[in-house]
Amino acid sequence: MKLAQRVGRTSPSPTLRITAEAKAMAARGVDVIDFASGEPDFDTPVPVKEAGIAAIRSGFTKYTAAGGIDELKLAVVEKLRRDQGLTYDTSQVLISCGAKHTLYNLAQALVESGDEVIIPSPYWVSFPEQVLLNDATPVLVQTEERQGFRLTGELLARHVTPRTKAVVVNTPGNPTGSVYDRRTLEGIAAVALRHDLLIISDEIYEKLLYDGLTHVSIASLGPEVQARTVVVNGVSKAYAMTGWRIGYAAGPKDLITAMTTVQSQSTSNPTSVAQKAAVAALNQGEAFIKEMVAEFDQRRRVMVERLNKIPGVTCAMPNGAFYTFPHVGRLIGRRGPEGPLTSATALAAYLLQEARTVMVPGEAFGSSDHVRISYATSMPKIVEGLNRIEEAIRRLK
Ligand SMILES: *Cc1c(COP(=O)(O)O)cnc(C)c1O
Repeated sequence: MKLAQRVGRTSPSPTLRITAEAKAMAARGVDVIDFASGEPDFDTPVPVKEAGIAAIRSGFTKYTAAGGIDELKLAVVEKLRRDQGLTYDTSQVLISCGAKHTLYNLAQALVESGDEVIIPSPYWVSFPEQVLLNDATPVLVQTEERQGFRLTGELLARHVTPRTKAVVVNTPGNPTGSVYDRRTLEGIAAVALRHDLLIISDEIYEKLLYDGLTHVSIASLGPEVQARTVVVNGVSKAYAMTGWRIGYAAGPKDLITAMTTVQSQSTSNPTSVAQKAAVAALNQGEAFIKEMVAEFDQRRRVMVERLNKIPGVTCAMPNGAFYTFPHVGRLIGRRGPEGPLTSATALAAYLLQEARTVMVPGEAFGSSDHVRISYATSMPKIVEGLNRIEEAIRRLK
C-alpha cells in the first residue's frame, strides 16, 4: 500500500518500544529492572480516584463539550492564577487527551510545510516527530551540558530564520531533568518578542522540583510574553494519572479556538469521567505531590551518587522531573562480549543483556553520549539495578 509520505518521515516512540521489550523479557521470567519508565510509579491519589468513580456512578458518561467541561477549565484557570499568577479566561483554555495530544492539536493548528520550529536538544521524543507529522521542519539546537542543557536567548537568536514560527521550552525537562531559571527564560522571551515567535512552554514536570527551586512559567514574565506563549501542562506526571489522559493548554484565544476545532473534528472531548478526576487532582492534589516529591528526591540522590562512582560515567544532579541523564561517552569504544560498544544504544543493549536493566539510550533524545535512567521505580530496585550496572560496566574491556 502507498502510505502518506508523512508516515515515512516519522517513527514509533523509541521509549515506548524499549519499555515493550523490557515487558516481554519480564513476561519470559527474566528479572529485569525497568529504568526506562516515563511515568510515576505511584498510584493515583485516592480522592482523585473517588471523583472518577463518583462520576461513573452519577452517570457522567456522555459526550462533553469537545474542548472539555467548564468546571475543569475553571480549575485550570484557578491553578494558573494560584501557582503562576497568570490570568486567563476559560475561552483561552483547551482540555485534551493528555499533554501529548495538546501538543499535537497545537502542531496541527500552527504549522505547515515550510515552517520551522526550534527545539532545544536533547529533547523529548515527540516534539520533533509531531512537527514532522504536520509537514513542518524541526530545527534542533544543541544545548551544552555544562550550561545545564538550557537553551539561551543567544543560542535561540542564532537559529531564527524568516521561517521560524515557534520555539519549544520544556522546564523541568525530559530527558535531562534540567530546570530553567528566570534570567534564562527572560533571554528567550526577549528573542521571541523580537522575532515574533510563539513560545510553546511544556510545563508537565512543573511540580517535580528539588533543591528548593520554584517553577517559573515563561508566560509569567509579562503580558507581552503571555500573549505569545501557549502553556502546555496536564495531570499525568504531577498526580500519577498517566492512564487517565488529561492535558491542557492555556494561550492566545485565536490559537486555542483553532486547536479546539482540530480536536472537535478528531477526538472530540477527553473522557468525561477523567475530566472530573482531573478537577479533583487540581483542586486537592497538593498533599500527594509533596509526598511523591520527597520520595523522588531521595531516590535521585542515591542514583546520582551511585552513577558517579562508576568509572567512565559522570552524572549531573538533575533539579527536576524523575530522570537522570548520565554522560556515558567514555564507555563508547570499550569492548563487551560482542565487540566494541559503538553507541549509547549499544551500551543500553549490553546492559539489558548483561545487567538485565532497561534504560533509554540518548540517541532517542538527540544525544549519543548519554542514557536516560528513570528513578520512577522503588529504592530497592534502584540499589539492585545500580549494583548490576556497575558490575557489568566494570567488566567492559
Ligand atoms: C510525559 C510527557 C508529556 C505528555 O504527557 P501526557 O501523558 O500526554 O499528558 C509531554 N511532555 C513531556 C516532556 C513529557 O515527558
